[in-house]
Amino acid sequence: MSQHFDLIAIGGGSGGLATARRASIHGARAAVIESARLGGTCVNVGCVPKKVMWQASEAAEMLRRASDYGFQSVEPSVDWPLLKRRRDAYIERLNGIYQRNLDKDGVTLFRGHGRFLDARTLEVGGERLTADHIVIATGGKPRWPSVPGAELGLDSDGFFAMEQRPERVAVVGAGYIAVELAGVLAGLGSDTSLVVRHHSPLRGFDAMLQQGLVEALPQHGVEVVSQFIPAAISGRPGELRLEAGDGRALERLDAVIWAIGRDANTDDLGLEQAGVGTDAYGNIPVDQWQATNVPGVYALGDITGQVPLTPVAIAAGRRLSDRLFGGMPERRLEYHCIPTVVFSHPPIGTVGLTEEEARAVHGNAVAVFSTSFVAMHYALSEHKIRTHMKLVTVGDEQRIVGAHIMGVGADEMLQGFAVAVRMGARKADFDDTVAIHPTSAEEMVTMT
Ligand SMILES: Cc1cc2nc3c(=O)[nH]c(=O)nc-3n(C[C@H](O)[C@H](O)[C@H](O)COP(=O)(O)OP(=O)(O)OC[C@H]3O[C@@H](n4cnc5c(N)ncnc54)[C@H](O)[C@@H]3O)c2cc1C
Repeated sequence: MSQHFDLIAIGGGSGGLATARRASIHGARAAVIESARLGGTCVNVGCVPKKVMWQASEAAEMLRRASDYGFQSVEPSVDWPLLKRRRDAYIERLNGIYQRNLDKDGVTLFRGHGRFLDARTLEVGGERLTADHIVIATGGKPRWPSVPGAELGLDSDGFFAMEQRPERVAVVGAGYIAVELAGVLAGLGSDTSLVVRHHSPLRGFDAMLQQGLVEALPQHGVEVVSQFIPAAISGRPGELRLEAGDGRALERLDAVIWAIGRDANTDDLGLEQAGVGTDAYGNIPVDQWQATNVPGVYALGDITGQVPLTPVAIAAGRRLSDRLFGGMPERRLEYHCIPTVVFSHPPIGTVGLTEEEARAVHGNAVAVFSTSFVAMHYALSEHKIRTHMKLVTVGDEQRIVGAHIMGVGADEMLQGFAVAVRMGARKADFDDTVAIHPTSAEEMVTMT
């Protein structure tokens, strides 16, 4: 005897929870299957613990700089086990809130590993479930390299499990997770190397941001080791040796953290039983309506390989349920103009096209406005990290198609500008907006 639902989401992370809750709010019978902790990557081993650690690192930085303002000088020393205990307790509270939200919205939760038996039937813990609509929201998992000794390293999940702060650490990777973990560790006092295969991290971001970051990382205490392709790890914690193909090596490391990308989480999901296809990277391709190649089966969030961010998974899921159950037949997520922040020190905020992308599409119709300055944050300090800003515009009317910021406050600054860019603001609209003084943000409306 199987239970039947209107919609079942496999995966109780950002996307699955949002989809099922919205479906239930529209009156559908909805369920979620989750094999681990509620909230998925973001809450348990992603955005949330990362942001807590970033804030801890920012606090350490403020303590270090407080003497610029006449306070006694201190070299902060973090009680890592205490920080971890408090962070874990905070996340446990969030897990509880997620459970209560499901209860409140009337979503049924099944604990266990879900797998397809066919395109309409799932199995979890020996129980059979059927649904008219099945949403795959099983997210991703950290990628590991296949080099000898790789298992001596940690992945980002392992970073959050660390009971002690490593004294000397190498973070391998060039994406935003690598940049963020390296920044956190350096801020909290670890001797940190960021190991990248090419020249700089954050390839694909606007060149101004890449360049700004390459300058800022050493100022924040992160050594960037470029053109280093890891070939092997040997030794034991405290004495680890990370070796490159060209013979260079980083020695006496307490930890090596792999942050080299993430892979789709389709392990033992029974996709072949349902006939659901994957692409060359193992992601599940979807159309603009989040539909897979099998009618009634959808995928969203990281598993699709599209913009892997929490608000994207949530927005795609809510819109899908609005369309299926809310009488909104045209509702879907548009995957352009999605703002994002890198929690580096200082942070980076970016939305829309990079200058390079805009020029590739619009050629000479592109006009760029940029500025670089030392924010008042550093007014009394010898230690100064420059702020960089850029607006990318297109056409005679100078419609803004990209906005890029690196500097103190960029993380909170960007959201409002993202609204303006999405609404099609022109450079003249920015110019006509009265500045807020004295802030860094005012430079966004005073660029010439
Ligand atoms: C270190 C790190 C930092 C990040 N920081 C940010 C950030 O600052 N901002 C941001 O927007 N995004 C950030 N992200 C990305 C963000 O976490 C993901 O984009 C988001 O969690 C994707 O949501 P999802 O629903 O697709 O998958 P997930 O949140 O990963 O949820 C998938 C869930 O499915 C469950 N599952 C998998 N297979 C099965 C199965 N067969 N049966 C039952 N359950 C299953 C998993 O246990 C998991 O709970 C970060 C990620 C990492 C790793």
